[in-house]
Amino acid sequence: MDGRALGERIRAEVAEEVKGLERAPGLATVLVGDDPASDIYIRNKHKAAREAGIDARDHRLSKDVSEEDVLGLVEELNENDEIDAILVQVPLPAGMDENRVIRALEPIKDVDGFHPFNAGQLYLGEPTHVPATPLGIVALLDEYDVELEGASAVVIGRSEIVGKPVAHLLLLRNATVTICHSRTKDLAERARAADVLVVATGRAGLVGADEVKEGAAVIDVGINRTDTGIIGDVDPAAADRAGLITPVPGGVGPMTIAMLLRSTVRAARYRRGLLAYPQV
Ligand code: NAD
Repeated sequence: MDGRALGERIRAEVAEEVKGLERAPGLATVLVGDDPASDIYIRNKHKAAREAGIDARDHRLSKDVSEEDVLGLVEELNENDEIDAILVQVPLPAGMDENRVIRALEPIKDVDGFHPFNAGQLYLGEPTHVPATPLGIVALLDEYDVELEGASAVVIGRSEIVGKPVAHLLLLRNATVTICHSRTKDLAERARAADVLVVATGRAGLVGADEVKEGAAVIDVGINRTDTGIIGDVDPAAADRAGLITPVPGGVGPMTIAMLLRSTVRAARYRRGLLAYPQV
Protein backbone atom coordinates (compact mmCIF):
# COMPACT_ATOMS: atom_id res chain seq x y z
CA MET A 1 0.00 0.00 0.00
CA ASP A 2 1.65 3.14 -1.27
CA GLY A 3 1.22 5.88 1.34
CA ARG A 4 3.44 8.25 -0.57
CA ALA A 5 1.19 8.29 -3.63
CA LEU A 6 -2.07 8.54 -1.67
CA GLY A 7 -0.57 11.11 0.70
CA GLU A 8 0.45 13.30 -2.24
CA ARG A 9 -3.01 13.08 -3.73
CA ILE A 10 -4.65 14.08 -0.45
CA ARG A 11 -2.22 16.98 -0.05
CA ALA A 12 -3.09 18.19 -3.56
CA GLU A 13 -6.81 17.99 -2.66
CA VAL A 14 -6.16 19.94 0.54
CA ALA A 15 -4.29 22.62 -1.45
CA GLU A 16 -7.30 22.95 -3.79
CA GLU A 17 -9.64 23.26 -0.83
CA VAL A 18 -7.42 25.95 0.70
CA LYS A 19 -7.57 27.95 -2.54
CA GLY A 20 -11.34 28.02 -2.19
CA LEU A 21 -11.17 29.69 1.23
CA GLU A 22 -11.21 33.44 1.68
CA ARG A 23 -8.38 33.31 4.18
CA ALA A 24 -5.71 30.62 4.56
CA PRO A 25 -6.24 28.25 7.47
CA GLY A 26 -3.97 29.12 10.39
CA LEU A 27 -1.97 26.32 11.98
CA ALA A 28 0.14 26.95 15.09
CA THR A 29 2.71 24.45 16.29
CA VAL A 30 4.13 24.56 19.79
CA LEU A 31 7.47 22.92 20.53
CA VAL A 32 8.89 23.04 24.04
CA GLY A 33 12.57 22.16 24.30
CA ASP A 34 15.02 21.11 21.63
CA ASP A 35 14.40 17.42 21.07
CA PRO A 36 15.97 16.73 17.63
CA ALA A 37 13.31 14.21 16.54
CA SER A 38 10.51 16.67 17.43
CA ASP A 39 12.35 19.40 15.53
CA ILE A 40 12.35 17.24 12.38
CA TYR A 41 8.64 16.42 12.77
CA ILE A 42 7.80 20.10 13.17
CA ARG A 43 9.86 21.12 10.15
CA ASN A 44 8.19 18.46 8.02
CA LYS A 45 4.75 19.61 9.13
CA HIS A 46 5.56 23.23 8.32
CA LYS A 47 6.96 22.39 4.90
CA ALA A 48 3.89 20.34 4.00
CA ALA A 49 1.53 22.99 5.40
CA ARG A 50 3.21 25.80 3.44
CA GLU A 51 3.04 23.74 0.24
CA ALA A 52 -0.71 23.34 0.80
CA GLY A 53 -1.14 27.10 1.29
CA ILE A 54 -1.72 26.85 5.04
CA ASP A 55 -0.49 29.72 7.20
CA ALA A 56 1.75 27.76 9.58
CA ARG A 57 3.27 29.49 12.59
CA ASP A 58 6.10 28.00 14.58
CA HIS A 59 6.11 28.67 18.34
CA ARG A 60 9.16 27.49 20.22
CA LEU A 61 9.74 27.65 23.95
CA SER A 62 12.89 26.78 25.80
CA LYS A 63 12.84 23.55 27.82
CA ASP A 64 13.25 25.66 30.96
CA VAL A 65 9.91 27.48 30.69
CA SER A 66 7.24 26.76 33.28
CA GLU A 67 4.05 24.84 32.66
CA GLU A 68 2.19 28.13 33.24
CA ASP A 69 4.12 29.69 30.33
CA VAL A 70 3.06 26.85 28.04
CA LEU A 71 -0.56 27.19 29.23
CA GLY A 72 -0.33 30.94 28.62
CA LEU A 73 0.75 30.39 25.01
CA VAL A 74 -2.03 27.82 24.47
CA GLU A 75 -4.55 30.32 25.84
CA GLU A 76 -3.26 33.03 23.51
CA LEU A 77 -3.54 30.69 20.51
CA ASN A 78 -7.04 29.59 21.59
CA GLU A 79 -8.12 33.22 21.52
CA ASN A 80 -6.35 34.16 18.30
CA ASP A 81 -9.04 34.13 15.63
CA GLU A 82 -6.47 33.67 12.84
CA ILE A 83 -5.46 30.31 14.30
CA ASP A 84 -7.71 27.41 13.36
CA ALA A 85 -5.54 24.53 14.51
CA ILE A 86 -3.01 24.05 17.30
CA LEU A 87 -0.48 21.24 17.56
CA VAL A 88 1.41 20.81 20.80
CA GLN A 89 4.35 18.56 19.99
CA VAL A 90 4.62 15.69 22.47
CA PRO A 91 6.41 14.57 24.51
CA LEU A 92 6.67 17.72 26.59
CA PRO A 93 9.79 17.99 28.76
CA ALA A 94 9.87 15.74 31.83
CA GLY A 95 8.00 17.20 34.78
CA MET A 96 5.34 18.94 32.71
CA ASP A 97 1.78 17.72 32.99
CA GLU A 98 1.06 16.87 29.37
CA ASN A 99 -2.60 16.07 30.00
CA ARG A 100 -3.14 19.45 31.64
CA VAL A 101 -1.70 21.23 28.60
CA ILE A 102 -3.79 19.13 26.20
CA ARG A 103 -6.92 19.82 28.29
CA ALA A 104 -6.24 23.54 27.93
CA LEU A 105 -6.61 23.36 24.14
CA GLU A 106 -9.80 24.62 22.55
CA PRO A 107 -11.21 21.25 21.34
CA ILE A 108 -12.11 22.51 17.87
CA LYS A 109 -8.50 23.65 17.36
CA ASP A 110 -7.12 20.34 18.65
CA VAL A 111 -6.54 18.76 15.22
CA ASP A 112 -4.40 16.03 16.81
CA GLY A 113 -7.56 14.76 18.52
CA PHE A 114 -5.89 14.38 21.92
CA HIS A 115 -8.28 16.55 23.97
CA PRO A 116 -10.69 14.47 26.12
CA PHE A 117 -13.64 15.95 24.21
CA ASN A 118 -12.32 14.68 20.88
CA ALA A 119 -11.15 11.36 22.32
CA GLY A 120 -14.58 10.95 23.96
CA GLN A 121 -16.45 11.72 20.75
CA LEU A 122 -14.53 8.95 19.02
CA TYR A 123 -15.32 6.54 21.83
CA LEU A 124 -19.01 7.52 21.54
CA GLY A 125 -18.94 6.77 17.83
CA GLU A 126 -19.31 10.39 16.73
CA PRO A 127 -15.76 11.33 15.79
CA THR A 128 -14.74 14.97 15.57
CA HIS A 129 -10.98 15.45 15.42
CA VAL A 130 -9.19 12.09 15.34
CA PRO A 131 -5.40 11.61 15.52
CA ALA A 132 -3.85 11.79 12.06
CA THR A 133 -2.06 8.43 11.96
CA PRO A 134 -5.22 6.35 12.57
CA LEU A 135 -7.07 8.45 9.98
CA GLY A 136 -4.25 7.76 7.51
CA ILE A 137 -4.41 4.02 8.22
CA VAL A 138 -8.13 3.82 7.48
CA ALA A 139 -7.72 6.00 4.37
CA LEU A 140 -5.09 3.57 3.06
CA LEU A 141 -7.30 0.54 3.76
CA ASP A 142 -10.16 2.27 1.93
CA GLU A 143 -7.94 3.23 -0.99
CA TYR A 144 -7.06 -0.44 -1.49
CA ASP A 145 -10.68 -1.57 -1.03
CA VAL A 146 -9.95 -3.66 2.06
CA GLU A 147 -13.24 -4.99 3.39
CA LEU A 148 -13.56 -3.89 7.02
CA GLU A 149 -17.15 -4.86 7.73
CA GLY A 150 -17.07 -8.16 9.60
CA ALA A 151 -13.30 -8.48 9.18
CA SER A 152 -11.15 -9.74 12.01
CA ALA A 153 -8.92 -6.76 12.84
CA VAL A 154 -6.04 -7.07 15.28
CA VAL A 155 -4.30 -3.96 16.55
CA ILE A 156 -0.97 -4.45 18.33
CA GLY A 157 -0.25 -1.41 20.52
CA ARG A 158 -2.65 0.56 22.72
CA SER A 159 -1.27 4.11 22.71
CA GLU A 160 -3.57 7.13 22.70
CA ILE A 161 -1.95 8.28 19.45
CA VAL A 162 -2.26 5.15 17.34
CA GLY A 163 -3.48 1.88 18.89
CA LYS A 164 -6.62 2.95 20.74
CA PRO A 165 -7.97 5.43 18.19
CA VAL A 166 -7.36 3.13 15.21
CA ALA A 167 -9.13 0.31 17.06
CA HIS A 168 -12.14 2.61 17.55
CA LEU A 169 -12.17 3.66 13.90
CA LEU A 170 -12.09 0.01 12.81
CA LEU A 171 -14.89 -0.78 15.26
CA LEU A 172 -16.93 2.05 13.77
CA ARG A 173 -16.48 0.36 10.41
CA ASN A 174 -17.90 -2.86 11.86
CA ALA A 175 -14.68 -4.84 12.06
CA THR A 176 -14.33 -7.27 14.98
CA VAL A 177 -11.44 -5.68 16.80
CA THR A 178 -8.87 -7.21 19.15
CA ILE A 179 -6.38 -4.93 20.87
CA CYS A 180 -3.07 -6.55 21.83
CA HIS A 181 -0.26 -5.06 23.91
CA SER A 182 2.92 -5.86 25.78
CA ARG A 183 1.12 -8.15 28.25
CA THR A 184 -0.83 -10.11 25.64
CA LYS A 185 0.00 -13.78 26.05
CA ASP A 186 -0.74 -15.40 22.71
CA LEU A 187 0.30 -12.57 20.42
CA ALA A 188 1.50 -14.68 17.47
CA GLU A 189 -1.68 -16.75 17.44
CA ARG A 190 -3.86 -13.63 17.54
CA ALA A 191 -1.85 -11.92 14.81
CA ARG A 192 -2.20 -15.00 12.61
CA ALA A 193 -5.99 -14.79 12.87
CA ALA A 194 -6.14 -11.21 11.56
CA ASP A 195 -7.63 -10.26 8.21
CA VAL A 196 -6.44 -6.74 8.99
CA LEU A 197 -3.32 -6.44 11.14
CA VAL A 198 -2.16 -3.05 12.46
CA VAL A 199 1.18 -3.07 14.26
CA ALA A 200 2.15 0.04 16.25
CA THR A 201 4.67 -0.84 18.92
CA GLY A 202 8.07 0.60 18.01
CA ARG A 203 9.61 -2.89 18.38
CA ALA A 204 11.56 -3.70 15.22
CA GLY A 205 10.61 -7.05 13.72
CA LEU A 206 8.05 -7.83 16.44
CA VAL A 207 5.78 -9.55 13.91
CA GLY A 208 7.51 -12.27 11.92
CA ALA A 209 6.54 -13.35 8.41
CA ASP A 210 4.90 -16.56 9.68
CA GLU A 211 2.70 -14.55 12.07
CA VAL A 212 0.77 -13.00 9.21
CA LYS A 213 -2.31 -14.68 7.77
CA GLU A 214 -2.14 -15.55 4.08
CA GLY A 215 -3.76 -12.67 2.14
CA ALA A 216 -4.07 -10.32 5.15
CA ALA A 217 -3.85 -6.53 4.91
CA VAL A 218 -0.92 -5.49 7.09
CA ILE A 219 -0.30 -1.96 8.30
CA ASP A 220 3.15 -1.43 9.77
CA VAL A 221 3.16 1.81 11.77
CA GLY A 222 6.53 1.29 13.46
CA ILE A 223 9.43 3.65 12.94
CA ASN A 224 12.67 2.14 14.19
CA ARG A 225 15.96 3.81 13.42
CA THR A 226 18.82 1.40 12.73
CA ASP A 227 22.34 1.79 11.32
CA THR A 228 21.01 0.78 7.93
CA GLY A 229 18.00 3.11 7.96
CA ILE A 230 14.40 3.14 9.15
CA ILE A 231 12.58 -0.17 9.55
CA GLY A 232 9.12 -1.11 10.76
CA ASP A 233 7.70 -3.48 13.37
CA VAL A 234 6.92 -6.19 10.82
CA ASP A 235 9.49 -8.40 9.11
CA PRO A 236 9.51 -7.23 5.45
CA ALA A 237 9.44 -10.91 4.40
CA ALA A 238 5.77 -10.85 5.52
CA ALA A 239 5.07 -9.20 2.16
CA ASP A 240 5.18 -12.68 0.57
CA ARG A 241 2.23 -13.87 2.66
CA ALA A 242 0.25 -10.65 3.05
CA GLY A 243 -2.24 -9.66 0.38
CA LEU A 244 -1.35 -6.02 1.04
CA ILE A 245 1.30 -4.43 3.24
CA THR A 246 2.59 -0.92 3.91
CA PRO A 247 6.30 -0.34 3.34
CA VAL A 248 8.46 1.43 5.92
CA PRO A 249 9.27 4.12 4.98
CA GLY A 250 6.64 5.21 2.45
CA GLY A 251 3.53 3.70 4.04
CA VAL A 252 1.86 5.23 7.07
CA GLY A 253 4.35 8.08 7.59
CA PRO A 254 3.35 10.22 4.57
CA MET A 255 -0.32 9.60 5.34
CA THR A 256 0.00 11.10 8.80
CA ILE A 257 1.06 14.50 7.51
CA ALA A 258 -1.54 14.47 4.75
CA MET A 259 -4.36 13.75 7.22
CA LEU A 260 -3.10 16.42 9.58
CA LEU A 261 -3.39 18.99 6.80
CA ARG A 262 -6.86 17.72 5.98
CA SER A 263 -7.91 18.05 9.62
CA THR A 264 -6.53 21.59 9.71
CA VAL A 265 -8.66 22.64 6.74
CA ARG A 266 -11.68 21.01 8.35
CA ALA A 267 -11.09 22.92 11.56
CA ALA A 268 -10.88 26.15 9.55
CA ARG A 269 -14.08 25.40 7.65
CA TYR A 270 -15.90 24.51 10.83
CA ARG A 271 -14.77 27.66 12.59
CA ARG A 272 -15.92 29.76 9.63
CA GLY A 273 -19.37 28.18 9.55
CA LEU A 274 -18.70 26.24 6.32
CA LEU A 275 -19.04 22.79 7.90
CA ALA A 276 -21.67 21.54 10.34
CA TYR A 277 -19.09 19.68 12.42
CA PRO A 278 -15.70 18.26 11.58
CA GLN A 279 -16.96 14.69 11.29
CA VAL A 280 -14.36 12.27 10.02
P1 NAD B 1 3.96 3.81 22.40
O1 NAD B 1 5.36 3.53 22.87
O2 NAD B 1 3.15 4.87 23.01
O3 NAD B 1 3.13 2.46 22.50
C1 NAD B 1 3.67 1.22 22.15
C2 NAD B 1 2.62 0.16 22.35
O4 NAD B 1 3.17 -1.07 21.93
C3 NAD B 1 2.17 -0.02 23.79
O5 NAD B 1 0.78 0.02 23.87
C4 NAD B 1 2.71 -1.38 24.20
O6 NAD B 1 1.81 -2.09 25.02
C5 NAD B 1 2.87 -2.08 22.86
N1 NAD B 1 4.00 -3.02 22.90
C6 NAD B 1 5.28 -2.74 23.24
N2 NAD B 1 6.02 -3.86 23.19
C7 NAD B 1 5.19 -4.85 22.82
C8 NAD B 1 5.36 -6.25 22.62
N3 NAD B 1 6.54 -6.85 22.78
N4 NAD B 1 4.29 -6.95 22.25
C9 NAD B 1 3.09 -6.38 22.08
N5 NAD B 1 2.87 -5.06 22.25
C10 NAD B 1 3.91 -4.32 22.63
O7 NAD B 1 4.11 3.99 20.84
P2 NAD B 1 3.23 4.78 19.73
O8 NAD B 1 3.31 6.21 19.96
O9 NAD B 1 1.90 4.13 19.58
O10 NAD B 1 4.10 4.42 18.45
C11 NAD B 1 4.31 3.09 18.04
C12 NAD B 1 5.26 3.08 16.86
O11 NAD B 1 4.65 3.75 15.78
C13 NAD B 1 6.58 3.81 17.11
O12 NAD B 1 7.60 3.15 16.37
C14 NAD B 1 6.34 5.17 16.53
O13 NAD B 1 7.53 5.80 16.11
C15 NAD B 1 5.47 4.82 15.36
N6 NAD B 1 4.60 5.91 14.92
C16 NAD B 1 4.60 6.17 13.58
C17 NAD B 1 3.78 7.18 13.09
C18 NAD B 1 3.78 7.44 11.63
O14 NAD B 1 3.31 8.46 11.21
N7 NAD B 1 4.27 6.54 10.81
C19 NAD B 1 2.98 7.92 13.96
C20 NAD B 1 2.97 7.60 15.32
C21 NAD B 1 3.80 6.58 15.78
